[in-house]
Amino acid sequence: MRYAIISDIHGNLEALQRVLAEIQTQKVDEILCLGDVIGYGPNPNECVDIIRETARICLAGNHDYAPLGKLDISYFNQWARSAIEWTAEELTPSSRDFLLSLPLKEVVDGFTIVHSTPLHPNEWNYITTLDEAEENYAAFDEELCFIGHSHVPLIVIQNEDGKCDVENDSRLQLVGGNRYIINVGSVGQPRDFNPRAAYSIYDDNDKVFQLWRVEYDVGKTQDKIIRAGLPEFLADRLARGQ
Ligand code: ZN
Repeated sequence: MRYAIISDIHGNLEALQRVLAEIQTQKVDEILCLGDVIGYGPNPNECVDIIRETARICLAGNHDYAPLGKLDISYFNQWARSAIEWTAEELTPSSRDFLLSLPLKEVVDGFTIVHSTPLHPNEWNYITTLDEAEENYAAFDEELCFIGHSHVPLIVIQNEDGKCDVENDSRLQLVGGNRYIINVGSVGQPRDFNPRAAYSIYDDNDKVFQLWRVEYDVGKTQDKIIRAGLPEFLADRLARGQ
């Protein structure tokens, strides 16, 4: 099977449409979404409708739960909080129902997917260092776990001796005996100083993973953010990928 794995769309319709157009040329069998479909961006309902139609599985992210009252929003910074309040007003009953139904973690055909960490999916911790990755390998049984949440792509390999290392290439050939935690980056709000939308393809026949980046109309999304009355900072950061 060939999977497209995407995460952290954050209500950015232009980025999502562009990524899905690319995915279509990649001839995948299934699309998996690791959560944060909404939050920050100006098109939450549109993104929910598209993901509901196209993804085989969509997980819950913290930004999917927050406007439903399922999370304490004092956890978020001021920009995220005002976006959550704006999003809560915008969500249709049908979007709410969909978001309420999302699971936190799933095992899909031999690999794990989760928004934040396999160890504590509902605590919204990050995996950004080797130490943080290391403690998470014990929390899933498969050779491979895909995550999102930090908006920064990352591949951590654990070898048979338990030693962890970061892989810097965007293409990875999986090797038997090793285990992997892979962050697929963000469609709608990249934070690795690369403003292009991220998506990934995993082919479990030849065991190859590849992360892709694609340009989209950032200016259009920025205009919508400003017109919606969302914080200007949320528009600015899209152009910086930060
Ligand atoms: Zn996110």
